[in-house]
Amino acid sequence: MKILTLSFLALFVISCSTENNQTSEPITNSKEKPGDYRFERVYGETPDGYPLPLTGIPITKQTVIVKNENGSIKEYPSHFTPNEQLDKEEMRITCLGSGNPPVRMRQAGSSWLVQLGNGENFIFDIGGGAVLNLWSMGIPMGELDKLFVTHTHLDHVGGIFPLYDAMGWARNTPLRVWGASGYDESLGIAEFCKNIEEAANWHNTSKIGIVPSGGMKIEANEFDYSKFSKENPRQLIYNENGVKIYAFPVDHILQGAVGYRIEWNGLSFVFTGDSVPTTFEAEQSKDVDVFAHEMFIDAPTFAAKNSMPLQIAENVVSEHTPPRKLGEIFNIAKPRLGVGTHYFTNDDTIDPAFNGLSSTYDGPVVIGQDLLVINVTENQIVCRMAMTDKLMWAPPAKPSDEKQEMEEPVREGRTPSFVTETRLNN
Ligand SMILES: [Zn+2]
Ligand SMILES: [Zn+2]
Repeated sequence: MKILTLSFLALFVISCSTENNQTSEPITNSKEKPGDYRFERVYGETPDGYPLPLTGIPITKQTVIVKNENGSIKEYPSHFTPNEQLDKEEMRITCLGSGNPPVRMRQAGSSWLVQLGNGENFIFDIGGGAVLNLWSMGIPMGELDKLFVTHTHLDHVGGIFPLYDAMGWARNTPLRVWGASGYDESLGIAEFCKNIEEAANWHNTSKIGIVPSGGMKIEANEFDYSKFSKENPRQLIYNENGVKIYAFPVDHILQGAVGYRIEWNGLSFVFTGDSVPTTFEAEQSKDVDVFAHEMFIDAPTFAAKNSMPLQIAENVVSEHTPPRKLGEIFNIAKPRLGVGTHYFTNDDTIDPAFNGLSSTYDGPVVIGQDLLVINVTENQIVCRMAMTDKLMWAPPAKPSDEKQEMEEPVREGRTPSFVTETRLNN
């Protein structure tokens, strides 16, 4: 099935909801299966008419945004699948983690993947569980070596170990990680990366002589947070192959928290991690194509749903952005598409989010879900959900020119002989 226009999708949605009587119950009967096993729920809507989570439909009423109806319009399949080609001039943005702590089964910790038509991939944050979604996208691991960290809260970096684990054959070069310095050395990204490497010492040492070790390193690219100022609001921290990535500070408790703006081929994406809403971040995100910004539920709901004392919930919420404030941010930045993410997407939280957003903003907005895919061209932005393989194999990597030398296995500290002598022969 192809989707081309919003009206077409609306028809698709209406027909689904009629067939399934708008139920949102889990599937219990094979006759009620949705179109694909990868979506666990039949289609259903909130009282205000927004798609419910986990139904294979983006949470928005506007999945297609067209600048010029007479301009070039690209047709897409109704769902993204990993073998789908990206056009040379196109940007594809995938939400790998839309969640909050505690990480939930269908909402991994914060993470976004940006894929460019020139074949390059960029990862922004890697929260717990996000790598599961990333691997399901079927991208060769060797092509996933660039990570940009907004801040080192664990819901944004807790998934770094499986990304770092190059597995010997998958990535034979270091994982490259960008992030800001902190108030002191111990709080910067360089120290964080060093500590990750040290924590993986047993893992790395054990693999010497078994697999090549070229990928067992982290290359930290720390930029100086103290250089940001009113006069110098952003720093160009990546500039290769026509891809520019700027960092700018956001208001999130400690020094070192930043947002990123990636620009390539006239297309752009901003991701701000976590923040209290400021006009500063909104100004840095002006006229961006897609702006993914955090959004938080209200303190009483947060406390009640997470069995948390209200005072603690209020403390947490005060460091984040409520939907009506995110609307104000979008009103300044004027993105072609706003994304409210890092949000608890439950059946009863969707309408309050859109109510808050629409009280201050009337542009197109989608709520982040894991494996929301956004294709961006000059004339069009299309939101779909990905149908990925939950048991995906690693696809072949591009052949590397570099010969990987195998080191001698370590001799000391191996499993003692009183254990190895009892090995059962194959
Ligand atoms: Zn945070
Ligand atoms: Zn967070």
